[in-house]
Amino acid sequence: MKDETLRYFDNSGFQEKLISWYQANKRDLPWRQNQDPYRVWVSEIMLQQTKVDTVKPYFERFMEKFPTVHALAEADEQAVLKAWEGLGYYSRARNLQTAVREVVAEYDGKVPKNKNELGKLKGIGPYTKGAILSIAFGQPEPAVDGNVMRVLSRVLRISDNIAEAKVKKRFEAIVSEMISKDDPSSFNQGLMELGALVCTPKAPLCLFCPVNAYCRAFSEGIQEQLPVKSKAKKPKRVTYLVLLLKKGKEVIIEQRSEQGLLANLWQFPMIPMKGEMDAAQAEKWFEAEYGWSIQIGKEAGELKHVFTHLVWDLKIFEADVLYASDDTRLKSVNEIEISEYPFPVSHQKMMKFL
Ligand code: SF4
Repeated sequence: MKDETLRYFDNSGFQEKLISWYQANKRDLPWRQNQDPYRVWVSEIMLQQTKVDTVKPYFERFMEKFPTVHALAEADEQAVLKAWEGLGYYSRARNLQTAVREVVAEYDGKVPKNKNELGKLKGIGPYTKGAILSIAFGQPEPAVDGNVMRVLSRVLRISDNIAEAKVKKRFEAIVSEMISKDDPSSFNQGLMELGALVCTPKAPLCLFCPVNAYCRAFSEGIQEQLPVKSKAKKPKRVTYLVLLLKKGKEVIIEQRSEQGLLANLWQFPMIPMKGEMDAAQAEKWFEAEYGWSIQIGKEAGELKHVFTHLVWDLKIFEADVLYASDDTRLKSVNEIEISEYPFPVSHQKMMKFL
């Protein structure tokens, strides 16, 4: 059934304006060179939570290294993480590789165009599925993210809270009705492009907007009050003491666990600080955890790193190894070897303190 809000909406006029504006104004982006589903897939995964300008060089390098599903499926996971280094949200890279391996094993290396099969692949949620189906395969499927919800909240004057899952489902149903059956790719990309270039979160450029004649929020002058979005919870803060631990001329690094945040990446050893912890207590903690005896020296600096739901306060200290056991989590590397390991951004920044 038609969503109530579309009853008196001139959808064909809106489609036409949006699509012709998109075709004349779309940015020349590396993933728009062709509609190869693998390229579309990689670009959409990289673009989750990440700005276009940041993604561009990563996408080009990634495509050079892993130009096909087969190349990515066969690659070593550490090489994939290294190519993703600095882009954040590393589970995206791991899930992408898992899914690509499934495409090779189950679908003869061809990205499935069946929406149920595609949606079952790891890391492909409703947005990515809709983007791949519409852009690569020309299917009229919705691809709704925060950008699209912002644009359509304004155009259709919808004041539902876009942070709620059921509201996202409503927008998906609305886009399913609105989408052009002739050119679903340009329709979906047009909405995304409009959100990125014109209908921006703050100070949207309504006077230059190709669909302003169809926009209910603009006609009422309330575009800046939409969309409605409840505030996210305050992120949790955790303090760590990070050790630039030296053993002769080499430095000690550690691989993170294979589960959870920043899984399988490498880092300088981190000691969680509970309340006030002095150097002697930290040294004892380290000995109990790893069986290594160390001496903590002077402070090298401080860093803060913000994740979506978490903030790390990092206090960085120099330290020396006094006794090393054979704990396999820790690895001793020289200044050339260290560059071969994938590190999260916060720890890359610490390299300057070495
Ligand atoms: Fe967004 Fe303004 Fe265009 Fe409406 S008129 S879609 S609020 S930029």
